[in-house]
Amino acid sequence: MNNTNSLTSAKTNVESTVHGHITDADLAFDQAHIWHPYTSLTNPLPTYPVQSAQGVTLTLNNGSELIDGMASWWSAIHGYNHPKLNAAAHQQIDQVAHVMFGGITHAPAIELCKRLVALTPEPLNAVFLADSGSIAVEVAIKMAMQYQVSRNKAHKNRLLTIRNGYHGDTFAAMSVCDPVNGMHELFRGVLPEHIFAPAPQIKPTETWNEQDIAPLKALFAEHHHEIAALILEPIVQGAGGMRFYHPEYLRQARQLCNEYDVLLIADEIATGFGRTGTLFACEHANIVADILCVGKALTGGYLTLAATITTRAVATTIGNGPGGGNLMHGPTFMGNPLACAVACASLDIVASGAWQQQVAAIEQQLNQELAPCKALPSVADVRVFGAIGVVEMQQPIDVAAAQRLFVELGVWIRPFGRLLYIMPPYIISTAQLSQLTHAIQQYCKC
Ligand SMILES: *Cc1c(COP(=O)(O)O)cnc(C)c1O
Repeated sequence: MNNTNSLTSAKTNVESTVHGHITDADLAFDQAHIWHPYTSLTNPLPTYPVQSAQGVTLTLNNGSELIDGMASWWSAIHGYNHPKLNAAAHQQIDQVAHVMFGGITHAPAIELCKRLVALTPEPLNAVFLADSGSIAVEVAIKMAMQYQVSRNKAHKNRLLTIRNGYHGDTFAAMSVCDPVNGMHELFRGVLPEHIFAPAPQIKPTETWNEQDIAPLKALFAEHHHEIAALILEPIVQGAGGMRFYHPEYLRQARQLCNEYDVLLIADEIATGFGRTGTLFACEHANIVADILCVGKALTGGYLTLAATITTRAVATTIGNGPGGGNLMHGPTFMGNPLACAVACASLDIVASGAWQQQVAAIEQQLNQELAPCKALPSVADVRVFGAIGVVEMQQPIDVAAAQRLFVELGVWIRPFGRLLYIMPPYIISTAQLSQLTHAIQQYCKC
């Protein structure tokens, strides 16, 4: 690869290629100069050039079409190039694409927050609009800390969480990710050290056993005086291992928070807006968090936007606290009107309720069509929850080789570690979903 040439050619072609054809030189530039998520510039993995997308199909530069099993990391729940989302974006961009949120408000933000307050259970009704999931988690942590300081409990300044979690890549969020998957070793001395309970073991389909929550109970008893909040992903642990746990664990965790005067932060950035079969995963345990984080599917996968939603009680306590009672966060692109307008359109589709039937059908089909993988010697476990299907292999997966096979089979599936998993757009057809599950079966057999 000749880096100098690829750089020069890209520079001369910058404008003409933005909507156009990606050449081999462009791909070489990509490999030499652009970090992709969790990649190295010295040992880059192949990347596939997408030209356009429609429904559940990604079209590559060479014209080949891939059924998308990832919904662009949980976000594109209604599919790509959706007429209602497009219309909302076009209409808003002609009015105002962005304006600062400090001292200014606008209809898209107000309309979005009305919808968020209406969709979330009481008493969640105070909204902070964040610009990504990680920032929503940062804000949730800040809220919890400011809440405790404001009620003269500044000593309650640590977090309790469970292993195998994933809460984002910024430093506070990373500090509550699984210490091994989250690479805490690499950032030792920089990351605050929080308190970790073992990950729950009992699956939603298994019989509940009190032993599962005993370690969390013990940690509450020992550390409650220094804990501001318990933060967890309800029922589905996503990027930290794609694990599902029993709703009774979550129900009792809520009780422990009440008992020990600890806030509960539910990170529903992956699970929110129907993915697990209920609008929010907390509903499986019939609980409400004190602070709720949403993101990913919020704009139907169009633009980056997230929200942290809390109770009037938490907001009021912070408001009566030091520093003039201000919640100390305010990103430049807070409440971006374009993102808010698309989010409103996405939530209107969610509110129509079609997702309930769609997610239930996906769950049933995933159960049926992934089950045969269980018998294969290469497979350690198969699990399905809502519109999420996971096949855990015995051995680590060669991501580049697996991607190559999947692209040949006309599907987009991006594994990590020993996990093959799919969480397709809700609008996927039976035939398209079969193409995904057959590709997984084929991978497991070779
Ligand atoms: C993806 C994710 C985040 C981080 O969101 P970003 O938008 O990537 O910053 C946080 N928590 C959970 C549960 C997630 O799945």
